[in-house]
Amino acid sequence: MTEATLTQQEKKQKYNFNKLQKRLRRNVGNAIADFNMIEDGDKVMVCLSGGKDSYTLLDILLNLRLNAPIHFDIVAVNLDQKQPGFPEHILPDYLSKLGIEYKIVEENTYGIVKEKIPEGKTTCSLCSRLRRGILYRTATELGATKIALGHHRDDMLETLFLNMFYGGKLKAMPPKLLSDDGKQIVIRPLAYCKEKDIEKYSIAKEFPIIPCNLCGSQPNLQRQVVKEMLQTWDRQYPGRIETMFSAIQNVTPSHLCDPKLFNFKHLQQGELLSDIEGDIAFDKEDLPAIPLLAHDNDEAEFTDGEMISFKEVN
Ligand code: SF4
Repeated sequence: MTEATLTQQEKKQKYNFNKLQKRLRRNVGNAIADFNMIEDGDKVMVCLSGGKDSYTLLDILLNLRLNAPIHFDIVAVNLDQKQPGFPEHILPDYLSKLGIEYKIVEENTYGIVKEKIPEGKTTCSLCSRLRRGILYRTATELGATKIALGHHRDDMLETLFLNMFYGGKLKAMPPKLLSDDGKQIVIRPLAYCKEKDIEKYSIAKEFPIIPCNLCGSQPNLQRQVVKEMLQTWDRQYPGRIETMFSAIQNVTPSHLCDPKLFNFKHLQQGELLSDIEGDIAFDKEDLPAIPLLAHDNDEAEFTDGEMISFKEVN
């Protein structure tokens, strides 16, 4: 269909989709650059579950690679956990059509989890541990230097509040992580992407989604509660989510209470602290009336092929 034959409605849809795609690409490009997630010569193993997040991750990374200033390879990996009703053909069909390197790993973690965890108890924690081990092993077998996961900004904030409310820890989900044995680097290139954008993108691209409730596990109720809390805040106070995400990028250890992060015990008179750690003991905090918005600049425009660095990807 040519541009001239499109209806007004179709033109609007196309315009909105292009804007959404540019925003997602820009967010991923910025996250990759800010955390040096992908380097020249890397082989990135993209973990594909069949959900909207991992499809979007693979799609955006494949596109960024076309114009990237460096060379990196991509291999898609799906773990078939042998859950009842798992549609085995969907991902191989999709990946074959894309013509990219991929591997389907078959491991009956579903059977192990069902055998070890009593009926009615939540199975996610053992299931995740098993999955992590298998994916790390697969990355080594494939010679992958980075493991890319599809977690996004909203997952990271939900984890922050879950840890705070239920775990008594100020800890979110890192955009880049070294495994405990020091052998694997896990990256989350969607760290700056909103779940709503990913959802819209996934619908527009008609990704063949595989349902995520095949294992029959109860949904994590605590995560659900936190998700609803954040969504309510977002409706009541637009911009709050962006401000909270900015907050986890602007941390002042000397103004928290963790002696492991800041040496309160040996604080000496005459010592000079950095600007952000400065003295506000007697001042009122100067807070902006309008919340700070991070990584959400819709104004920047980008044309495919103009990329100079990851940072400039739109
Ligand atoms: S929802 Fe099911 S597949 Fe997902 S982590 Fe939990 S047990 Fe595993």
